[in-house]
Amino acid sequence: MKTTVALKCTKCGHEEMPELDVETYVQWKAGEGRIQTMFPELSDDTRELMISSICGQCFDRMFADEDDADESEDMANEVDEDGGEPW
Ligand SMILES: [Zn+2]
Repeated sequence: MKTTVALKCTKCGHEEMPELDVETYVQWKAGEGRIQTMFPELSDDTRELMISSICGQCFDRMFADEDDADESEDMANEVDEDGGEPW
């Protein structure tokens, strides 16, 4: 028997509703196997969404962005009149 599982990315709100085998899904929820072998038909992104509630795009971004996040913010702060000389 199949069921539709509603998944939603907590970062960007991206939604997916894959149809999954109920028994397999319950087993996976109970930690009885790896998602890759239990749902080989799902895409990596959908599996990521099931595991961490984060879609593939946001997941990639989290790791790609570690060093150069918020560039625009840094530039805005550069012009900062904090007035007064140190002497
Ligand atoms: Zn997302």
